[in-house]
Amino acid sequence: MTVRVRIAPSPTGNLHIGTARTAVFNWLFARHHGGQFILRVEDTDTERSRPEFTDNITAGLEWLGLTWDEGPFFQSQRLDLYRQAIQTLLDHGLAYRAYDTSAELEAMRTAQKAKKQAPRYDNRHRHLTDDQQRAFEAEGRQAVIRFKIADDRTVQWHDLVRGAMTWQGSDLGGDMVIARASSVDSIGQPLYNLAVVVDDQDMDITHVIRGEDHIANTAKQILLYEALGGTVPQFAHTPLILNPSGQKLSKRDGVTSISDFQKMGFTAPALANYMTLLGWSPPDSEELFTLEAAAPQFSFDRVNKAGAKFDWDKLDWLNSQYLHDRPASELVEMLVPYWQAAGYDFDLEVDRDWLTVLAGLLGPSLTRLSDAVEQGRFFFAEVMDYSEAATKQLRQDGVAELLTATLGQLQAGASLESLEAVKALVSDVVKAQGIKKGLMMKSMRAALMGDMQGPDLTESWLILHQRQFDLPRLKKAVELAQS
Ligand code: GLU
Repeated sequence: MTVRVRIAPSPTGNLHIGTARTAVFNWLFARHHGGQFILRVEDTDTERSRPEFTDNITAGLEWLGLTWDEGPFFQSQRLDLYRQAIQTLLDHGLAYRAYDTSAELEAMRTAQKAKKQAPRYDNRHRHLTDDQQRAFEAEGRQAVIRFKIADDRTVQWHDLVRGAMTWQGSDLGGDMVIARASSVDSIGQPLYNLAVVVDDQDMDITHVIRGEDHIANTAKQILLYEALGGTVPQFAHTPLILNPSGQKLSKRDGVTSISDFQKMGFTAPALANYMTLLGWSPPDSEELFTLEAAAPQFSFDRVNKAGAKFDWDKLDWLNSQYLHDRPASELVEMLVPYWQAAGYDFDLEVDRDWLTVLAGLLGPSLTRLSDAVEQGRFFFAEVMDYSEAATKQLRQDGVAELLTATLGQLQAGASLESLEAVKALVSDVVKAQGIKKGLMMKSMRAALMGDMQGPDLTESWLILHQRQFDLPRLKKAVELAQS
């Protein structure tokens, strides 16, 4: 048997982290078994589906490296197939037209509520006579199509994550609507549960891997598989992603879509790595890995039943580990878009080498790519402000003199072509001024960076010198030191 799995997003919003994590598990399972991963866009909800969401979803999956082998297939282009299946169910007496008005359904629910019963359709139109049907139609009523669910039926399956699962037919809400209302000579818009089953059968899906919020649908869908005469796939219901306080992760928690994470400066490999750990743990406990490396080890035995708490610190840690490992030539490609978006002044063609050195300097201190905006700011602007600590440093005894001496050397044409040359200049000034090297370094940091913290001073100075930013900053610092 070739494993065939699918991710079936509904394009009613951007690619959600929950859907993306489900896609990760599907992808890993498919790759583990040398099987196929299929992308199916569930766009039957015409009011809420939008092409821009489909674009966001496919772009997000591609960005994460979750390449699919078949598709995307669109449910909106497959409506005939669903209608044929519905017709088959009608022909076999397994489905029927129900003519209830919304007011009648509402009254039914109110009565159930008053009796403290769970809301369900009471199957009242299951056995309408032809005359009753004609009478409803004569009134101009439209009919939905409902699939019969026997109350005394027990649905069971072995879930790859949750083990033995049992549902009672009577807990499934009564006969289920599988097509929206339409006039008698047509079949209305087919609905989710029906379309999923028809597609999963038609696409020979062997394993349905999806969020645990679909468990009740699975019970209903198993009944539909049986009714349509197909093999029932295996099911794996993955745990929900929870916020740090244990509730389902939602928009209120800041970000939920993959494009948001991307904008915040997370990298695709780190995010994919993190999502894999949301519910799964590798047998060797090694937490840093690529999807390719995780695939051979992936199995549902190590997927938790309990919800997976979203942990920003862990994601940040994984992202920083990933960034710290990148060579400057790779980092620069990732950072340039952030610097461009921040409006920093550079010419990519001319400044590529300079930018690469800067990326190499900042790389080890980045947690998110977006950190390079703040950390890189003073490399792109000629003048900058001084922090309180830097101002204090500059006003210490002897600082105005050492900065003036340094400025003098630069104005006299001291060449700063390399780190060694910068170090030599520092030594010269230290010696000539008879000061401690620490005072020189701290004061130069204050003068060049306007702050007492930042990346390596010698490297930063060289980078600033290449843009001729050190001279004006020293001049400004001397003024401040003397004020
Ligand atoms: N379209 C469903 C959703 O986005 C997925 C259903 C499924 O995987 O069967 O939640």
